[in-house]
Amino acid sequence: MSSTLRFQIVGEAFKKRPVEVPKRKERPSEFFAKYVFNRQKMQQYLPSDVYKKMCDVIDGGAPLDMATADAVAEGMKKWAMELGATHCTHWFQPLTEGTAEKHDGFVEHDGKGGMIEEFTGKQLVQQEPDASSFPSGGIRSTFEARGYSAWDPTSPVFVFGDTLMIPTIFISYTGEALDYKAPLKKSLKAVDKAATAVARYFYPDVKKVVSNLGWEQEYFLVDEGLYAARPDLLMTGRTLLGHDSAKNQQMDDHYFGSIPMRVAAFMKDLEIKSLELGIPCKTRHNEVAPNQFELAPIFEETNLAVDHNMLIMSLMKKVARKHGFRCLLHEKPFAGINGSGKHNNWSLSTDTGILLHGPGKTPLDNLRFVTFIVESLMAVYRHNGLLKASIISATNVHRLGAAEAPPAIVSSFLGKEISNLLEHLETSTDDELISLSGKQTLSLDIPQIPELTQDNTDRNRTSPFAFTGNRFEFRAVGSQQNCAASMIVLNTAMAEALTNFKTRVDALISEGLKPMKAILRIVREDIRTCKPIRFDGNGYSEAWKQEAARRGLDVETSAPIILDQYLKPETVEMFGKMNVLTKAELEARNEIKLDTYIKKIQIEARIFGDICMNHIIPVATRYQTQLIDNVHKMQQILPAETADRLNSTNLSLIKQMGEHNTFIIENVERLIEARRVANRIKDGRERAIAYHDTVAPLIEEIRYHVDQLELIVDDELWPLPKYREMLFIH
Ligand code: ADP
Ligand code: MG
Repeated sequence: MSSTLRFQIVGEAFKKRPVEVPKRKERPSEFFAKYVFNRQKMQQYLPSDVYKKMCDVIDGGAPLDMATADAVAEGMKKWAMELGATHCTHWFQPLTEGTAEKHDGFVEHDGKGGMIEEFTGKQLVQQEPDASSFPSGGIRSTFEARGYSAWDPTSPVFVFGDTLMIPTIFISYTGEALDYKAPLKKSLKAVDKAATAVARYFYPDVKKVVSNLGWEQEYFLVDEGLYAARPDLLMTGRTLLGHDSAKNQQMDDHYFGSIPMRVAAFMKDLEIKSLELGIPCKTRHNEVAPNQFELAPIFEETNLAVDHNMLIMSLMKKVARKHGFRCLLHEKPFAGINGSGKHNNWSLSTDTGILLHGPGKTPLDNLRFVTFIVESLMAVYRHNGLLKASIISATNVHRLGAAEAPPAIVSSFLGKEISNLLEHLETSTDDELISLSGKQTLSLDIPQIPELTQDNTDRNRTSPFAFTGNRFEFRAVGSQQNCAASMIVLNTAMAEALTNFKTRVDALISEGLKPMKAILRIVREDIRTCKPIRFDGNGYSEAWKQEAARRGLDVETSAPIILDQYLKPETVEMFGKMNVLTKAELEARNEIKLDTYIKKIQIEARIFGDICMNHIIPVATRYQTQLIDNVHKMQQILPAETADRLNSTNLSLIKQMGEHNTFIIENVERLIEARRVANRIKDGRERAIAYHDTVAPLIEEIRYHVDQLELIVDDELWPLPKYREMLFIH
C-alpha cells in the first residue's frame, strides 16, 4: 500500500457520518425473545400433552422419545417457517472456540416430482456431521469421521436469519465429548447434586441448585477500512507492530465517557437483535482503552448464558460490519493500552434464593452463607492452577500478568467484612458460637454480616476471583474465549468441594454431633485449609508473586506448562469422580490446547515476518536512500565544513535506520529458523514450549525495532495505519 492510499483510507474513516440509530416502536418487553422457541411458543405451537412432556424433559431431565420429538419438530417447523426460516442447523461449540453449523433446507421430495417442507424429530434430535476436520486431540482417528451432535433441550432453539438454530452437544462416535457443552452440562449436573445435598442441611425442601453466570463482554471497534489495511489484524486479530499513540488512555477520558454516535448506533442495533434472540442485554459503556467498549446482560442459568455469549460474539461481528466497523474480540489487539477480558460473575441458587447471598434472616441462613463461601474458596484453592489453565491461551497471555488484568496467579478477594467474619469463626470454639436460647432455639454467634451490596464489598480490581456481594467474579477469562471452559472447572471443583464437605459433616453427625456443630467444625477446618487462596492486597505487585509462591499457589507463567494442569492426578481424579470428563477426554483437551497455542504463534510469526520484509524494510530503505541523497547534495552545494555540520543529524538517522533494518532482517531470518527448529519437534508439549521460549519472544524483540522505525520514517511513506489513526475514529 502506498501512503497516499493510507491517507485515503484514514480520510474515509474520518468522513463516515453517524448512521441512523435504529429505532423500534415496540418496547423491549414486547419483542424480547421474538425469535426464540421458548415455553410460551411451545405452549402455543405444541399439543398440550407434548408441551407437558417437553417440560418434564427440560425441568426433570426425562428422556425424550421419538414420537414426542416428531411432534415438537412439527410445531417448531410451523413457528420457524412463519418467521421466514427455510433451513435448520445443529449449532455446536467444538474445541476450536467458535461455534459450528451446517445448514440443511427443510425441503424433501414429495414423490410426485415436487417438493414439500419437512423437518422431523430425527433431524431435531440427532445429526451426524462429518467430524474429521474438528479438533479431537487424537480421540477419533480421521478414518472414523463420524461424530454426533445431539439436541440440548434445556437451551431453546431460535431462528437466526433464515435458519432454525438448534443448540447441540457434539460427541465422538465412541461417546467422548468433542465440545464444551457436553462437559459443561455434566458439571452443572454434578454441582446441582452436591449443592442440593448441602443446601438441605439448611433448607430441607430444596429440590434443585442452579449455577448462574453473568458475563461482561469487552470488545474493540475499529473502522473496517483501517482494519483491512492491517494484515496483522486481519490474520491474527491483533496488531503485531505499531508505536504507541502519544495520547492513549492516560487521561482516563474514555472510561464511562459519552458513547460516540456511530458506536451508539451499533450498540442499539446489537441490543435490539440480541433482545429478539432472548439475550437479556442490560449494560453498555465505554471501557478504559480508546475504542474499547463493554456489554453485559442480566445473568442467566450457566448453560444458557454460555450459549448466549457464543451467540452474541458472532452477532457482534456481524452487526459491526453493517456499521462499517470490525469488532475485535482478541484479548490484546493493541500494545500499550488495556486488553479485553470477560468477567464471569458466578453464583449458585435454589428456587428460593442465591446461596452466596448474605446476610440471612436466621442463624441458619448465616451458616449457609458462610458454608458456600468457604467451599467456593476450597474449590478454587484446590484447583487454582487448573482454573488458570482453563483460561490460558496464546492470546490471553498478553493480558494476564500485565498491570491491567488479573495476575497469572489465582487468588480470591473477600473484602474486610467477610475476612473478619472468617477469622472470627476460625478462632472461636463451637461453644462460644452456639448457644441455646429461650425455647431451645438455636442461635449462632456469627457477628453481624453486613448487607452486602456492591458498594460495601470494597472492590479490588486486581483480584482474579473477587466476591462482589452475592457472587464471585472471575476476571481472568479472555474476551474471545468460550466461558464454558472455566465454568466447567469451577462448577466441577465446587461439586467436589461440597461432596467432600458433606462426607465429613455426615461422619461427625453419625458420631452423634448435632448437624449445626458438625457443619461449624468442618467449616472451621476448611477456613484454615484454604487460607492461602485469600488475598486482599495488590495482585499486581512483585511482592505478591513471591508471597504466592511461598503459599504454594500456582505461579507458573509459561502457557504450555500451565496446560499440564489438565493431566495432574488431582484434576483427573476430580473430573472422574464428578463424572464430567474422563482421562482420555482430558488428554485430548490438553493436546488440542497445545496445538492451538502453537498454531496461533506460528501464524503470528509468519505474517509478522512477511510484514517486516514486504512493508517495513522497503519503506525504511527508501527513506534512508532519500536521506543519503540529501547528504550527497548538501555536500555538493555547501562548503565541506558546513555540509559536515548540517549533515550530522541526517547521518545519525541513516545510521539508526541501518541498525534497525539490519536487526530486523537478521532476526526475521532467526525467527524463520526458530520456527523450523520448533516444527521438527515431534512431541506436542515440547513443540509448544519451543514456540513459547524461542518464537514468541523474538516477535516482541523485532517489534521494538519496527516501532522505532515508525518514529523515524517519513509519515507519508509509512504503509500501515498507525495506532493514533485506528484508535480515535468512531
Ligand atoms: P460490574 O460493576 O462488575 O462491571 P456489571 O453490572 O457490568 O458489573 O455486570 C455484573 C454482571 O453480574 C451482570 O451480568 C449481572 O447480571 C451479574 N450478576 C449479578 N448478580 C449475580 C449473581 N448472583 N450471579 C451471577 N451473576 C450475577
Ligand atoms: Mg464486573
